[in-house]
Amino acid sequence: MSRVPVLTYHSMRVEGGAYASNDHVALARDLELIHRLGLRIVTLKTIARAVIDGGLDRLEGAVGISFDDGPDFDWRDIHHPAHGFQRGFANILRDFAARTGRTDTHATAFVIVGPEARRELDQTCMAGAGWWNDDWWPYAASRGIAIENHSWDHNHATLERTMQREGAKGNFTAIDSYEECDLEIRQASDFIDARVGEGACSLFAYPYGEWNTYQAQTYLPTFGHEHRLIAAFTTGGEPVTPGSDRWTLPRYVCGDHWRSPEELEGILRGTG
Ligand SMILES: [Zn+2]
Repeated sequence: MSRVPVLTYHSMRVEGGAYASNDHVALARDLELIHRLGLRIVTLKTIARAVIDGGLDRLEGAVGISFDDGPDFDWRDIHHPAHGFQRGFANILRDFAARTGRTDTHATAFVIVGPEARRELDQTCMAGAGWWNDDWWPYAASRGIAIENHSWDHNHATLERTMQREGAKGNFTAIDSYEECDLEIRQASDFIDARVGEGACSLFAYPYGEWNTYQAQTYLPTFGHEHRLIAAFTTGGEPVTPGSDRWTLPRYVCGDHWRSPEELEGILRGTG
């Protein structure tokens, strides 16, 4: 049975300079592992389409790569105040492509979309240095980094107010009505398309990896003509298989499902 692991990295996770504490270090090492194992990298849209049309067998020996939340370091290098220079994720992919001659070094960036939410999260979750912009989205999208939907405001705990009607924050399962899903999901698809290009947005990643049955079984399958998404990703910690549901496609998270190259090798070989 074909199985396609999808890996997730957070460019904001810079807590030190070692593999286990820094997703920039981990991504660079993991690309070498992917290369050594002879895996090809396919887009998450390719994986979603293969699940939908029953053709996942075509993707045997493939892996998907995604980035979550969409701070600037998905794209740009940064000088971290505590941990120094960090190569941006897109540049890590570019370095890897230059070194290996590979042409399949794409990734999907699931971004928090609302400008106000990003401005506020930049203050509350990062250094308040203006590191959460959307100016780079169109460039990234034309250079192998797909810009996709990680909701309007993540229903994030540190925001003053979110789209959740009763002020329940810090989890995405509280988004359980049409009105809230419309604001969190459809509104975000519209903004990405306006910023990146018509039809750019086609995938969703649940904030915190959390979803509820209203989102996955009612809103997303029913209102496709409004949100225009074809699939949604969780952080379920298993590979995508032919039996996976298109609205709850699982991913693995760096630092959570694996903390070393050896653990990732187990996941990629199907023994971990
Ligand atoms: Zn997130």
